[in-house]
Amino acid sequence: MRELLSSVTADQYTETVHRTVDRVATRLRTTTQPFSGATPAQLRALVDAVDLDGPAIGTPAALQEVDELVVEHAVWFHLPTYAAHLNCPVVLPAVAAEAVLAAVNPSVDTFDQSGIGTFVEQAVVAWTARRIGFAHGDGIFTSGGTQSNLHGLLLAREHALAGVPDRGAVLPRLRVVASASSHFSVQKSAMLLGLAPDAVVLAPVDALGRLRPDALAATLAGIRAGGGLPMAVVATAGTTDRGCVDPLAAVADACDQDGTWLHVDAAYGCGLLVSPTRRHLLDGIERARSVTVDFHKSFFQPVSSSALVVRDAADLAPVAWHADYLNPHDSDEPNQVDKSLQTTRRFDALKLWTTLRALGADGLGTMFDEVVDLTAAVHRWVAADADLVLVGRSDLSTVLFRYQPDGVDDARADALVPQVRAALFGSGRALVAKTVVDGRPCLKLTLLNPDVTLDDVVDVLELVRAAGAALVEGDDLLSADATVVAR
Ligand SMILES: *Cc1c(COP(=O)(O)O)cnc(C)c1O
Repeated sequence: MRELLSSVTADQYTETVHRTVDRVATRLRTTTQPFSGATPAQLRALVDAVDLDGPAIGTPAALQEVDELVVEHAVWFHLPTYAAHLNCPVVLPAVAAEAVLAAVNPSVDTFDQSGIGTFVEQAVVAWTARRIGFAHGDGIFTSGGTQSNLHGLLLAREHALAGVPDRGAVLPRLRVVASASSHFSVQKSAMLLGLAPDAVVLAPVDALGRLRPDALAATLAGIRAGGGLPMAVVATAGTTDRGCVDPLAAVADACDQDGTWLHVDAAYGCGLLVSPTRRHLLDGIERARSVTVDFHKSFFQPVSSSALVVRDAADLAPVAWHADYLNPHDSDEPNQVDKSLQTTRRFDALKLWTTLRALGADGLGTMFDEVVDLTAAVHRWVAADADLVLVGRSDLSTVLFRYQPDGVDDARADALVPQVRAALFGSGRALVAKTVVDGRPCLKLTLLNPDVTLDDVVDVLELVRAAGAALVEGDDLLSADATVVAR
């Protein structure tokens, strides 16, 4: 049985997907921990035990195995005890739309492979552009913020090199200005774009890691004085660790004065585009030439769902390439492939389209507002707790802190950060992240679940406290033993 999806297998499709959905629903009803707590060695052994060259076991058995092997040991983002990375719980209309696009399986590269899908994607991109404030904008869905940033910087490079006769001579002089808090994909993009190894120039920042617009003009002037050519300034609207938004309008002033392309990385902060109360944090974003948005971070969309949006539709032209079989010069059919780095491409736009129809833009924005409000409450709680030290503040939804009760010095508090995270992960009871801020390790919560309450987060913080206390006690016992042995 080849099991191809068609009129012949429509009944089987219904049964297979229904049974699979029922199993996942059972997991949702019964799963209480964000992770099973299995070790990497245990999970690798489970995967290695499956022989992909073995005899076929049939679809029902294969899906039963997926449930027992994969779903059992998944990481669940929807539980209140998941507070680690920038992963959101997903909304039902988008999950259902994902099932539609998996079955229909269009490719939004050309009109003749997607039909109305081309216009649905164009409409969702145009909606996003209008939210940003671009009157004549355009853009394209991508696989994620990393690809969106690469795409934006590629367009900036082509803009900088437009009309340059000797590209090879100018390429090594191009510079990208960013902050130390900007996403690492900026560095990676510079490498992929063939820029010089030192092409990314880190500009001065304030105490929260935000670009200092007063210093930006000097940075740009310094680059020019040294023989370099500023290719782009990358401002971050929602830094990955701190959730801080660079002062976009003032950064745009500096870019305009210098004539430099402004790329705004709003992978995290794009939720503010629909916020009923905090849209002003993005004031100035409409002056960017290109913007990255990650709907799979703050729009509650399943991975993948991201877009690169440009202020001037014509700026997308450099990636257009005409293939006789696909999008020849003389074709008058609309297509999206001319704007994309990909060819065959998922119809991710359908998920956001369905979500906007089902819940409305305000509904989504209110959900993001709720997590930002929750985060402010958690900040107050951590600041008031004698055992926890709050690190900085956030415009969005991250909490940076350390477990450091009386008697624990800085060095020990720093050493506890990875240990506490690992202890929680190993138990599977709560997932928190860790990072380094201003040279010191700290624990990080990223709160993206509007159903989560302050009490839920306090429960996670109590698990942090318990793990930290146990580790400190263990250390004390060890050093007491060492003292005894030394005597
Ligand atoms: C997450 C993130 C990215 C990368 O996005 P992916 O979707 O993970 O590729 C880029 N920039 C910022 C600020 C981010 O937080």
